[in-house]
Amino acid sequence: MTNDPESDCPSPEAYSVAGGGAHTANPPSVLPPVHLATTFLRDVDNQYSSTFSYGRDHNATVRELEGALARLEQANGPALMFSSGMSAAVCLLLALGPGARVIAPNVMYWGLRQWMKYDGPRHGITTTFIDFDNASALDAELGAGADLVWVETPGNPMWNIIDIADVAARAKASGAKVACDATVATPALMRPLKLGADIVMHSATKYLNGHSDVIAGALAFAKPSLLAEETQRIRAAMGPILAPLEAMLLRRGLRTLHVRVERQSQSALAIAQHFSHHPKVAEVRYPGLLSHPGHAIAARQMQGGFSGMLSLRLAGGEARAIAVAARTRLWTRATSLGGVESLIEHRASIEGEGSPVPRDLLRLSTGLEPVNELIADLEQALADT
Ligand code: PLP
Repeated sequence: MTNDPESDCPSPEAYSVAGGGAHTANPPSVLPPVHLATTFLRDVDNQYSSTFSYGRDHNATVRELEGALARLEQANGPALMFSSGMSAAVCLLLALGPGARVIAPNVMYWGLRQWMKYDGPRHGITTTFIDFDNASALDAELGAGADLVWVETPGNPMWNIIDIADVAARAKASGAKVACDATVATPALMRPLKLGADIVMHSATKYLNGHSDVIAGALAFAKPSLLAEETQRIRAAMGPILAPLEAMLLRRGLRTLHVRVERQSQSALAIAQHFSHHPKVAEVRYPGLLSHPGHAIAARQMQGGFSGMLSLRLAGGEARAIAVAARTRLWTRATSLGGVESLIEHRASIEGEGSPVPRDLLRLSTGLEPVNELIADLEQALADT
């Protein structure tokens, strides 16, 4: 290794795995140090030549992580880390300002949908929810004047696929920006900015960290913009920047992102194929299956797999779904996704009243356990119900 991390790491993936630019630090190390300081020295001429002044605005450990994420997303604008996926999304929406109009999918991450529906209007930000399979509905809403199109693909928890390039072309023609929640795909499988999106968002709590021990969020902007600056200003004003110790843990998780996601995608596909023709399973929702309505688009815009997330709709409805989740041993009954351990969840139960999720649906987050054991565990749970 030389002292120039840029020339050492030919690809964004290599930079991410290598751990980033610490080779010029004193002493030179394979990882950057963790900066816990909340405040930084002012120069004698009253300037902040280091660019760091106070920890609510910025921190060097967080900034190194942001640099790694910007490279992975191939973002020419800033990447910003937040204390949760929700705070990342909400800061971006608030940055649009009062009077803003947003278009979002009918089925998407429930917590953010609720914010858009109930909290957004209190800040003068209104959202219209549409079916993105219906291009004329999107065109009609864009024609009525929209500031931001929010897409989530694959979309929670039906794993609906939205064609990012097509949405971006339509939005650009009407002057709207496009933000993509790519939590499930991750940059290991999909790069929304390369497909024309203006902003990519992650619940970094999930795959980017990958170990179910950090709550975090991320935004990366295709290019520097007033919206990026305003989002960063709001983050500094309110304080939901990621804390340095969480940034250190997340940075460690990010180094194994590609191998984790590759293995989880392979296992999820094997599980989806295995249960496709099971007598007790009414439908398997997984974009890697030819039978999934969004398969062709997913195959075009995702490379190297279709993610570790899938859902099973149980013949026998809600009662059997809950009974199966109660009988699994290797699949842990818990919400969230993207960790190394496999999780199973009756999704409608956590979303509650008004949820569009079918009541017979179990959401599966495939972990790193041997896939034959994951399949056998689901088989025994189904056999017993
Ligand atoms: N987006 C998606 C797709 C999610 O699954 C979640 C959380 O489950 C979020 C956003 C919100 O992220 P966080 O829980 O980190 O605030």
